[in-house]
Amino acid sequence: MTSSSETVVAPQSGRAVPVPRGSLVQVVDLEGHQVGDMWAIDRADPSRWLSTAHTRDRTERLFPKTGTAFTDQVGAPILRLVADTSPGMHDMLYPPCNSPLYESAGLFDHPNCHDNFLTAVSEAGLTLPVVPDPVNLFQNSNPGPDGSLDVGVAASEAGDSITFEALRDLWFVLTSCSVDNWPTNDHRCTPLAIRVTAPGA
Ligand SMILES: [Zn+2]
Repeated sequence: MTSSSETVVAPQSGRAVPVPRGSLVQVVDLEGHQVGDMWAIDRADPSRWLSTAHTRDRTERLFPKTGTAFTDQVGAPILRLVADTSPGMHDMLYPPCNSPLYESAGLFDHPNCHDNFLTAVSEAGLTLPVVPDPVNLFQNSNPGPDGSLDVGVAASEAGDSITFEALRDLWFVLTSCSVDNWPTNDHRCTPLAIRVTAPGA
């Protein structure tokens, strides 16, 4: 027996969802070409979270692929990528977009994933000492042969999704990226959905 729920993450916002261990968590790009910044935080010990740096170290990869186990800061698995219908580009190098980034482009008081993460975890009753770097789902920023980085339009189409297995009881946090001044989200910010299928009691 299972139970399932859906949370829509509105454009330029974020949500934190409690996810029981063993659940499948599917992130759906509802309208296409929309990046989602993803975090996973251990509910039993919120000082442990998905670390992109430690995941790169343990997996010896720049980017995840199906089967990848993301780890926390001590290399313990916390989340596993189990299915992906998108073209498979998911960044693990960039921080969340934040106010100084937009201000450097002359945009003040612009929505951003950094602040939307803080709002979402605050609503969940969490206080973290830092904003961890997220996994940037669907972000099209593979490095060039010379090591250069450029963010292109997300290649995901409407209905594409990526699915994870929760390896612990988690807070699963997702922001619909706020970038509308660069091709990242095809110049329009759209919603994402989080669909959680939890193992039943
Ligand atoms: Zn963003």
